[in-house]
Amino acid sequence: MLKNSWRTFAAVASALAIGTATAYPDKPVTIIVPFAAGGPTDVVARTLSQALGTQLKGSVVVENVGGAGGTIGAGKAARAAGDGYTLLFHHIGMSTAPALYRRLDFKPTEDLIPIGAVVDVPMTLIAKPGLQPANLKELVSYLKANKDKVNLANAGIGSASHLCGLLLQSALKTDMTTVPFQGTGPAMTALLGGQVDVMCDQTTNTTGQIKGGRVKAYAVTSKGKLANFPDLPPLASELPGFEVGVWHILYAPKGTPAAIVSRLEAALQAAIKDAAFASKMKELGAEIMPAERQTSAGARALLTSEIAKWGPIIQAAKVYAD
Ligand code: ASP
Repeated sequence: MLKNSWRTFAAVASALAIGTATAYPDKPVTIIVPFAAGGPTDVVARTLSQALGTQLKGSVVVENVGGAGGTIGAGKAARAAGDGYTLLFHHIGMSTAPALYRRLDFKPTEDLIPIGAVVDVPMTLIAKPGLQPANLKELVSYLKANKDKVNLANAGIGSASHLCGLLLQSALKTDMTTVPFQGTGPAMTALLGGQVDVMCDQTTNTTGQIKGGRVKAYAVTSKGKLANFPDLPPLASELPGFEVGVWHILYAPKGTPAAIVSRLEAALQAAIKDAAFASKMKELGAEIMPAERQTSAGARALLTSEIAKWGPIIQAAKVYAD
């Protein structure tokens, strides 16, 4: 009798396990974006959510949880139930947070499972309309001479804009006042209104503003010039070695069943190929990750190597958030 109940239990359990994977999703999936709505990470996540929804035959919605350079939203996702209904879309900040935050309340490599890397996005160095310098060379001298007057907007400690600003200040050997926002969506509004002066931000937020002539653009952070901005020099032409690319990964909280992770991995790879997603990314200057990075293992390898790369750089710069 006892033996039979165990058999029944095992059969029910395995049917449930299969059921979980095949019926998934049976309600909306939420992607947490750890920055404000309307910014560059948000734009990519919302475009991806459409394509992912098509692949999953369900609804995928975005929830913005900004603050503290992305660590509040990432922490929320890390503590969410591992059931496939809460995901996280985050960028390079995931690899700088462990060195920057003394009291980080989650462990990027243990509390979250990478599903796949999606895009690598270059940044641009932009300024409020009417800032005096006419080109990058002039801007470099201007920033050195006016460090007490100029402020730099960013999306909080550990954000990509913060990281780019740190590299800029270190290359110029000058400290500037920084103004944090919950994301560079609201920071862009402040820049357009002239409340802040300069900002580094992904092309996924700056392309429209630059092409529309609404901000002053000085440089790109890629090694060479970008096809979308043939007139903008790389920052490295004035500050040798300056290069920042903002990679983005989709994650699930730890405990998410392997069958659901595999389902999401396949859906993500197909979503990245979606024509509307691909053309929007091209328009915004975001580069699609190579196929081997679009896997859980490839994304994990990227995250681990970036944590190893940025840790010593940040420790040497002695920058911390408490
Ligand atoms: N671009 C931002 C950053 O600096 C974040 C955002 O709003 O997407 O990390």
